[in-house]
Amino acid sequence: MLRDKKERLISRLGAILSPEALLSREEELKPYECDGISVYRQLPLLVLLPERVEQVQAILRLCQQEQVAVVARGAGTGLSGGAMPVEGAVVLSLAKFNRIISVNQANRTAVVEPGVRNLAISEAVDHLGFYYAPDPSSQIACSIGGNVAENSGGVHCLKYGLTVHNVQGLKILTMDGELIELGGAALDGPGYDLLALMHGSEGLLGVIVEITVKLLPKPEMARVVLAVFDDVERAGQAVADIIAAGIVPAGLEMMDHLAIKAAEAFAHAGYPCDAQAIVLCEIDGTEEGVQDFIVSVEQVFEAAGAVQIRASANEAERLQLWAGRKAAFPAVGRLAPDYYCMDGTIPKRALAGVLRQIGKWSEEFSLPVANVFHAGDGNMHPLILYDANKPGELERTEAFGAKILELCVQSGGSITGEHGVGIEKLDSMCLQFGALELTQFFAVKDAFDPDCLLNPGKAVPTLHRCAELGRMHVHDGQLPHPELERF
Ligand SMILES: Cc1cc2nc3c(=O)[nH]c(=O)nc-3n(C[C@H](O)[C@H](O)[C@H](O)COP(=O)(O)OP(=O)(O)OC[C@H]3O[C@@H](n4cnc5c(N)ncnc54)[C@H](O)[C@@H]3O)c2cc1C
Repeated sequence: MLRDKKERLISRLGAILSPEALLSREEELKPYECDGISVYRQLPLLVLLPERVEQVQAILRLCQQEQVAVVARGAGTGLSGGAMPVEGAVVLSLAKFNRIISVNQANRTAVVEPGVRNLAISEAVDHLGFYYAPDPSSQIACSIGGNVAENSGGVHCLKYGLTVHNVQGLKILTMDGELIELGGAALDGPGYDLLALMHGSEGLLGVIVEITVKLLPKPEMARVVLAVFDDVERAGQAVADIIAAGIVPAGLEMMDHLAIKAAEAFAHAGYPCDAQAIVLCEIDGTEEGVQDFIVSVEQVFEAAGAVQIRASANEAERLQLWAGRKAAFPAVGRLAPDYYCMDGTIPKRALAGVLRQIGKWSEEFSLPVANVFHAGDGNMHPLILYDANKPGELERTEAFGAKILELCVQSGGSITGEHGVGIEKLDSMCLQFGALELTQFFAVKDAFDPDCLLNPGKAVPTLHRCAELGRMHVHDGQLPHPELERF
């Protein structure tokens, strides 16, 4: 049945795409069977590589007629299985949409295609003194289309906002191939904010084919302060103290002992390997303002009990201090055959307690955890180390991960900060939302894609699934975790 469908599609796609833009053999499809979270895999029916909007329109219309599911794909760096195909689906790669269409200095915007790499935008406008602020650690590879679909964040999002705050316009294609323009050159259009709705919609509502991003002037200077702690909870408190002091860092990141050791061995950033935790706090702005704030940051860290404080003296030192943090994921990847990257947010006041509980569970589950996170945003990334080849270890890891996310919700946070729900966090969505909220999500999906062909089975769980799990909506006070009663 699927084979017939595949043959029919191939023959009809021949009128839309050149042969090189249509991948159908198993060895060609393999690279597209997963995204950055490789435990979930599914071979796509076909992979399509269009390069013009009209081709994408024609593909979507054809798939609508044939009732074939479509999974849009950027660079495939997602960490929740969002770009992983579902059975019988075609992967629609936007990789060839890689042009920066225009830069408007007066508006401080750039119009770009969705396959453009995040970092390539800043590189293209660097000579004009501008940059694009959201900077996921994957920015060297991930696409701006994927960033919009996941509403990605990064180190500098604490001060400058997430992707949604840095995009001014989108062109999207609906499943029936209609082109919709949202936002544009001017700020704040009337009507429902569909531009914001598309951010984090994970390829379920439309295919993004053009993006107008906001550009910012590069700050005159930036300096980063490294604070070293002999106690993780004190470091967590220091993060809260920085925010409470009214300081607005450009980035405020934290790493625990295991992450520090891994990052230092990998990137030689100058972190002390015996530290229990480090906090990196970056201040940017005018030279005078930066120097004043650096003094305030150092004072807060000192009062919070830092055992060592060091501010970067020049740009090379600043980049070196960040190199460890930026390389933390691949560095931790060297410690074990596999790691499971969690992504939950918590209120900053809960940081110390949540870290303590994760430490306890790490011992109970006999699975080491390295913590790396956007601390200023309360966005945690516990990386659980495991070996998928050991029977039962993946299941134990998933159970541990689910407990962490439940704890995030119970502490007033959320099951995802920036990596999206995808396939990975469907069950955890049942904790975050009740039947009424999920029903509204279904209504939105239905308005854009009534046949449910765009990335089906992702991001929003069915009510049936939640009911079967017997889990629903614990964040308004029922079943508080004992550890959280203090918050
Ligand atoms: C080492 C590493 C570090 C990371 N660090 C961060 C980080 O700091 N912050 C962060 O937010 N994320 C981070 N990520 C996760 C990932 O890079 C982001 O989610 C990124 O935005 C995904 O972009 P992509 O182009 O790879 O998208 P993909 O993985 O290809 O797709 C992601 C989702 O977007 C949809 N999609 C892609 N393109 C389109 C389109 N044109 N139209 C409609 N839907 C589309 C897909 O269907 C899928 O649901 C990291 C990943 C890795 C591997």
